[in-house]
Amino acid sequence: MAVNYKLSEYVGEANAVKSYKLCRQAIYEIAAICKQLHPAFDFHIRPSLHYASFKNDKDDLYREFQLRQKNGFHVDWLEPGDVQDMFGFTTPGAILSADGGEVDAYLLTHALLKSVKRRGHRIFSNTNIRDIAYGKHQVTLTTDAGLVIKAKKLIIASGYESLKYVPGKIAEIHTTYALVSEALPEKYLWHKNSLVWETAQPYMYFRIVNKDRILLGGKDDNFHNQHILDSTIKSKTASLLHSFSRKMKDVPIKADFSWAGAFAVTKDGLPYIGSIPKRPNTYFALGYGGNGITFSAIAAEIIRDAIMNRKNDNAHLFGFNR
Ligand SMILES: Cc1cc2nc3c(=O)[nH]c(=O)nc-3n(C[C@H](O)[C@H](O)[C@H](O)COP(=O)(O)OP(=O)(O)OC[C@H]3O[C@@H](n4cnc5c(N)ncnc54)[C@H](O)[C@@H]3O)c2cc1C
Repeated sequence: MAVNYKLSEYVGEANAVKSYKLCRQAIYEIAAICKQLHPAFDFHIRPSLHYASFKNDKDDLYREFQLRQKNGFHVDWLEPGDVQDMFGFTTPGAILSADGGEVDAYLLTHALLKSVKRRGHRIFSNTNIRDIAYGKHQVTLTTDAGLVIKAKKLIIASGYESLKYVPGKIAEIHTTYALVSEALPEKYLWHKNSLVWETAQPYMYFRIVNKDRILLGGKDDNFHNQHILDSTIKSKTASLLHSFSRKMKDVPIKADFSWAGAFAVTKDGLPYIGSIPKRPNTYFALGYGGNGITFSAIAAEIIRDAIMNRKNDNAHLFGFNR
């Protein structure tokens, strides 16, 4: 997501702060959902460090810190010496936020589907929808096999693939790159396994997964091809390792796995959640942007309320007509 003060320029300070507060709340809601699952699913609250990549970024980042502090977020400003002591690298300054979370989103999705199934609902994977007819009172879907499904309400949550169902252009698709390192001894890891990201564009982020591996990502391209060449992934992996090693000079990082993914970017970094008049009885949960996992919890509440004809004070922040 755009940092708060930049988002304020798009949507006003009140709405920017509100969407940040919703994201923070969503972290704890997802933590609570994980706890309720049987068996309980691993979720960790982790601090998040946002550091200035260059001297020129420091003032803007400090403004961001002040804005967050003024609005009640749990943040500390770290000077270069603090970051050196806690994280082992140099930066002109950084914001340390207490509210961050770490979860394996893929496995959590499967755990949630399992839980839904246990309650008697059915899940159909590998069932492509060939056609959707949006009617006044119902939606009719036709699968590739010619089967017809009639529903009172339809929710489309198929990520960037959903763009084909939305009139007009609401997002751009970028390509992002990531790698997971080989396991490392604990002495190379940093303050409370924090999530770390920088101000530079294209950015780099890193965090610890599976207790002793580093997940390192970023170096996004502002385009996306369906087939990404192995050689592109190889050179992005090398570039990520190079940038990381320039920061964390003593960490002997080696890539174990690396991959690329599509990443949908919106004008303000916020997701699109809700309905469109041209698509009656249909709701979209499109968690576009860098905080898409938290947006999923926000989308669930907004869409539940819309279907139940309940008022939701947050719906306008993420609507299609914003
Ligand atoms: C490398 C990487 C790192 C990221 N890191 C973070 C992070 O640290 N924190 C964070 O909050 N977000 C992060 N994101 C962003 C986050 O993953 C997305 O914003 C979020 O997953 C979007 O959620 P979604 O439900 O809209 O779409 P998705 O998570 O993409 O889910 C869409 C699902 O629909 C399925 N699908 C597609 N087409 C169809 C179809 N026709 N029929 C049925 N199913 C279909 C897809 O297979 C997929 O499972 C990251 C993204 C990437 C790529």
